[in-house]
Amino acid sequence: MTQNLSVGDSALATALSQFDRAVHMLGINGGTAAMLRTCKRELTVNFPVRMDDGSVKVFTGYRIHHSTVRGPCKGGIRYSPHVTLDEVRALAMWMTWKCAVVNIPYGGAKGGVLVDTKKHSLRELEGITRRYATEISLFIDPSGDIPAPDMGTNAQTMAWIMDTYSMHRGYSVPAIVTGKPINIGGSAGRHEATGRGVMFTVREAYKTLNWDFSKARVAVQGFGNVGSISAQTAYEMGCSVVGVSDIEGGLYNSDGIDIPELIAYRRQHGSFKGYSKGKFITNDELLSCDCDVLVPAAMENQLTQHTAGSVKARMVAEGANGPTTPEGDEILNAKGVIVLPDILCNAGGVVTSYFEWVQDLQQLFWEEDDITKRLERIMIRSFHDVYDKSKALNTDLRTGAQCLGIGRVAESHITRGLYP
Ligand code: GLU
Repeated sequence: MTQNLSVGDSALATALSQFDRAVHMLGINGGTAAMLRTCKRELTVNFPVRMDDGSVKVFTGYRIHHSTVRGPCKGGIRYSPHVTLDEVRALAMWMTWKCAVVNIPYGGAKGGVLVDTKKHSLRELEGITRRYATEISLFIDPSGDIPAPDMGTNAQTMAWIMDTYSMHRGYSVPAIVTGKPINIGGSAGRHEATGRGVMFTVREAYKTLNWDFSKARVAVQGFGNVGSISAQTAYEMGCSVVGVSDIEGGLYNSDGIDIPELIAYRRQHGSFKGYSKGKFITNDELLSCDCDVLVPAAMENQLTQHTAGSVKARMVAEGANGPTTPEGDEILNAKGVIVLPDILCNAGGVVTSYFEWVQDLQQLFWEEDDITKRLERIMIRSFHDVYDKSKALNTDLRTGAQCLGIGRVAESHITRGLYP
């Protein structure tokens, strides 16, 4: 392996350890496994941007293509002061398996920029985004690599990328990114898609296991796009949402939280602090709180050898990418906790990105209701594909999902044949 395996980044170590386990189980041959274990292309860009005070600052960004076997590369762009090349490699690899698990015609990609969005004005963020978009224009293309939002980026970021790319072409190219604002070619339901997909998966898992979904008490870590919509959807589905948290900590109420009221409160006050109907808790307390379904929807490496032991939930639904380390997985599996793995559970985002891209290419837009129904069908079908695979292999759902995704990519590769 040419990429740093053990040095530094644990997301990559997690992704590779999951991969090795699945490949061993599938008995995929050495050459194919070696190809799938490595990212196909990696671009690092260092670029100057003028700050509001007139100074010039140099930023570093990445765009990585893990696989092009099953279609154009697809994956988000992350803005974070801590993002590393290894982290982006892991996230790109997970995108490949995720798209294969839900059977949409994409390979995996990911991008990142080392930037703390809280330390920049909107104008500076626009400058950083437009310059980064231009720098990675070597890689992105509506039929080759289609970025989307991820941690630290949003619909506005996508609008700037779409505009920058379109300015260089001389006409509008909405299909260059997904997760755009609806008025410039975004899709209805894309903003809500990941959180809705998480809860469609949880509901189907409950049904399959003969558990009573109406009694599910849900706790959600993270209150960004994925966490807040997961909480909202759980509430709308009639579950009791007993815990939520954001980066500053969380709130617990065993009687259930009125999520629409809390969202309105947070919008007005900027945080959960001061909201009276619940006990203020830390993020660690949220992970170990008394609940049935725990949705880690914040970031990677949350359920580890240190935290997994105290999880009280009977089901973990991974809204984030890579929230559980291999050691955390082992502990949860030994406790009999059902883990709905990220590459299945949070795939609603990329599924609806796929719908957005198809709509942009056809210049024909669908109703939200239609989109949500299509999403629900794909999430239910994919849950059963993963469930059946894990039963057939007598393994946990994560390994089942990895085997399903990796197996599909390997088969496509074999069908296409090795060039030249
Ligand atoms: N960033 C999201 C993910 O990790 C969405 C990617 C996309 O829609 O392309 O799945």
